[in-house]
Amino acid sequence: MEWFFLPWTFTAYLTGTFDQTGWQGIERNRYEPPGPADKWLIEIVYEMVAAETRCKRCGAPLDSPRLRAGAWPVRVTTRCRGSARHRHRADVSRTQDGLHTNPLIRA
Ligand SMILES: [Zn+2]
Repeated sequence: MEWFFLPWTFTAYLTGTFDQTGWQGIERNRYEPPGPADKWLIEIVYEMVAAETRCKRCGAPLDSPRLRAGAWPVRVTTRCRGSARHRHRADVSRTQDGLHTNPLIRA
């Protein structure tokens, strides 16, 4: 049942960047906290990134990422599955062009 609402949510996110209210609307939106669609999209993207990324230090695979998404930039963190559990992180910010993602780097 959740998937029934997903296309609508994604469309709402995509149309948000084509706001016709001009720069004032964009400025207002920049200070709004990340919405459910933003969090969902960031989570999906970084699940895939973490699954295909190895620890920069020991080469172990990475755990599923966690988000701290109370405000922009959204902080994405994960640890490697090696014995040292090296920490990796990335920040995601919102720009006028949409979401700006960064690679997971060792923190
Ligand atoms: Zn490691």
